[in-house]
This record gives sequence, C-alpha cells and structure tokens, in this order.
Amino acid sequence: MTNSLNNYPPAFHLLAKPSGATCNLDCAYCFFLSKEMLYPGSRFRMADAMLESYIRQLIEAHQTPQVNVAWQGGEPTLMGLDFFRRSIEYAERYRKPGMQIEYTIQTNGTLIDDDWAAFFRQHNFLVGISIDGPRAMHDAYRVDKGGQPTFDKVMRGLGLLQKHGVEYNTLTTLHHANADHPVEVYRFLRDDCGSGYQQYIPIIERLDHSDDASDHASANAPLSPSLPPPVTPAPWTSWRDRPLYTQAGDLVTDRSVTAEQYGRFLIGVFEEWVRRDVGAVYVQMFDVALANWVGEPSGLCVHSKTCGLALALEHNGDLYACDHYVEPAYRLGNIAETPMIELIASPQQQKFGQDKFDTLPRYCLECDVRFACHGGCPKDRFCEAPRSPGGGVGSGSPDGEPGLNYLCAGYKLFFHHIDQPMRFMADMLRRGRAPAEIMQVYAARDAALQQALAAAGRNDPCPCGSGKKFKQCHGRQAHAPTA
Ligand code: SF4
Ligand code: SF4
Repeated sequence: MTNSLNNYPPAFHLLAKPSGATCNLDCAYCFFLSKEMLYPGSRFRMADAMLESYIRQLIEAHQTPQVNVAWQGGEPTLMGLDFFRRSIEYAERYRKPGMQIEYTIQTNGTLIDDDWAAFFRQHNFLVGISIDGPRAMHDAYRVDKGGQPTFDKVMRGLGLLQKHGVEYNTLTTLHHANADHPVEVYRFLRDDCGSGYQQYIPIIERLDHSDDASDHASANAPLSPSLPPPVTPAPWTSWRDRPLYTQAGDLVTDRSVTAEQYGRFLIGVFEEWVRRDVGAVYVQMFDVALANWVGEPSGLCVHSKTCGLALALEHNGDLYACDHYVEPAYRLGNIAETPMIELIASPQQQKFGQDKFDTLPRYCLECDVRFACHGGCPKDRFCEAPRSPGGGVGSGSPDGEPGLNYLCAGYKLFFHHIDQPMRFMADMLRRGRAPAEIMQVYAARDAALQQALAAAGRNDPCPCGSGKKFKQCHGRQAHAPTA
C-alpha cells in the first residue's frame, strides 16, 4: 500500500476481542456470540505474540498524546489476569514519551473478584459494566450458559469495583423487557449502581426471511412502506441454535426495542435527568446531543456525519470495519500481515465510513434534526421512508426510498422533544456558563405549573398544554368519581 503518513487518521478507536466471541453468559439477544462460527476449531485466545504486536501497532499508529487500549468480547476477563498484566507491560514498553495510555474494558461483571478489582484500580482502568436494569429486567435476557439469572453476580462484581475505588460506567441495552420503564431503569442505575455515566444501546435484532422465523405468518408479511418492519418471535434463544448473525434482513425479533419505545425511553430519562442530575450524571446520548447542538464533534459515530474510525480486532489479528460488522465482507485484513494503520486508512474502510453519509435517503437529507441524528448507524437502516405526508414518521418524502433508519420515528420524537432545553444548554456553554443552570428553569416552570393546576377548573384547558380539558388530563385523578 502507498498511503503517506498524511493519509493516516491521527487517532482511532479499536475494540479488541482477546477471547473472540466466547463468553460465560448466553444473553438471548447477543448478536456477537454467533461470531464463534467465523473461526471453527479456534481456541479463541489471543496469542502473546499477537498481543504484543497489537499493542505496539496501536501505539505507533497514534499521532496523538493519548491512546485508548480498549478490551471487549465476548467476555474479555475469560483471558485471565496474566494476559492483562502482560498487556500493561507491552504498553509500557512501547509508550512514546509523554504519551498517556487509558485502559478500558467492557465486561459482564460476573467474574470480577478482589484480584481483578485491585488490578483495575492499580492501572486506572475504566470498567464498563453491562447491566440492563433492576433484577427482573436484567434477568429477562441476561442469563448464563445454563439459563440461570445473572443479576446477583453482576451486582457482586459491581460492589467489588466500588470497594476498590475502580472507575466504572454502565452499559444498558434496551429491549422488550425494560424499554417501557425509563425512570425505573435510570434511577436504579443512578441510585443502586452508583452509575455516574450511563450508556444505553437499543437492541435491534434483525432477521431475514430465510431464518426459521419465515415459518411465522407475520414474518412473511410484505414490508409496507412507512410502516415499521414486521415483528416476529425470535427463532432462537441461545447462540447454540442461531445462525451467524449478519447485518441483513428486514424483520426484527420481538425482543427488539421499537422506534417509538426508544424515543419515549430517552425522553423519560431526559425528563428525570434535566430536573436534578445535569452535571452530576452523564448520559451518553445527552452528551452527544449537546455536542451536536453546540456544533462540536459528538464523539459518537452513530450520530456523526461519517464513521469508520471505530474498528474491531479479533483474537487472531483479523481487523473488521466495526464491532457491528464482524463478518466476512467487512474483514479488512490481518494485522500480522498488513500494518494496522494501513488497513484503517485503506480505501475499503474509508468508503465504509463515507457511505454513512453518502447513502442517506433524501428523507434524512431534508430532515430538520439531521444535525443531531445524522441518520443513525448504517446497520439499522433497513426501512423505507414514508411514501406520503403523515405516513407514520413525520412529513415524508413521496418516494418510499429505502435505507431509512429503523429508529427514525424514535429519533425524531426525542430530538424534537429536547430541542428547547438543548438550545438553552448550548447557549449556556457558549457564554461560559454551566448547562446545569437549566435545572433552575425547570424548577421554576414546574412550580408555576403546580400553581396553575391547583387553580384550574374542571372544564378549563389543562395548564400542562396537552390541549385536553383539565378534568380529562391532570384533573382526572383529583376529580375521579368515588365509588
Ligand atoms: S457502522 Fe454504526 S457502529 Fe459502526 S462505526 Fe459506523 S455508525 Fe458506528
Ligand atoms: S430523524 Fe430520521 S429522517 Fe431525521 S436524520 Fe434521523 S433517521 Fe433521518
């Protein structure tokens, strides 16, 4: 390859999977477990020579003073502590003068003991814990290989992180079992888990008509433009009986979150957060949105104009375009054969990243919240834009163009809902003031509403602005007929 240094990105993000897709759990919705099929017969353990090569190349490729060494899986703690001790030794060996190295690891938390927690603390790891909410919501899908619930084990691991003073955040997937309970989930993470940084990821589990689901009548229903894709019972509950998951298909499983659910979940969390936690609790989606409202880089590929700088490395050195595209067509090469940076700067990967913008349907190009949304992740773009105005997700373009994001209706709902407060917080930032001042605005507004509600007559328009009569809205409880 002939790339000059100038063509190389100065920094990038790479998720390394030292144990491949192997995991001690068997979460029903996990798309990644099936990736074991890509490497039949493998032991799924990153060899020491590959570990050293990976760390060396990662550090050499960065032209920035900061490098993030990020571990993920499968379940990376299956590699054992010695593997990670060696990773630190290699990072120290190849560290450039003045370079700061940050270590992060995403884990299900169930294997964390005192030794792990002490190690994380010693090396200032930022640990991401996967937890889906209170017990029942978490255990709905996050089970071990024997189908047993995992909530208690995760909470025990979390407790050890707290005991050792490890920095951690939470990653919560949104699905059928928790997406209707935003406030309960948020408060649980904030109060019971002590999570000061929360990340929510929508589960969108795609199927195509060749999956077993095609036996279901609903799955065979033709896709109707401007309607959500058909939902069908998931034909598998374990990696053992599912095919290799690829980003294909225009059906979704019934475990998946719906677009509206996703939008309403984010709104529910926002309404709680904006009243009491601004500046104290960081919700990734709100940070990203504020950056887009300010006009700064958002730091999240999904809501950036282009992507392609968040790649995935398999245990054997195979480099893939993205964690969500660990599949043959998106394998860029192997870093033992081609330098990592050349694969990252390759025309194939550049096209992958640029396509995020270039393949946007006209409906997105004309959308009033595109500056915040940027069409979402390409993996979720398998719907058609509405054929007519009022076709379900807003004022639609007339063409029914394919490639609209499955979550579009939710994105629109959420981004429109937060427009005013985001403008306010962006304005505060531009003036060098704290976005947290918005909490005073909400407190004053809430107090005024309470006063207006107290003074409202049964047949007055409800002061909340719903357009309904008071007695049919906020006054309903107070004036409900008694038995
Ligand atoms: S495909 Fe999606 S998740 Fe992957 S880098 Fe692009 S936006 Fe990010
Ligand atoms: S809200 Fe919908 S139409 Fe607008 S940019 Fe996002 S996906 Fe496209």
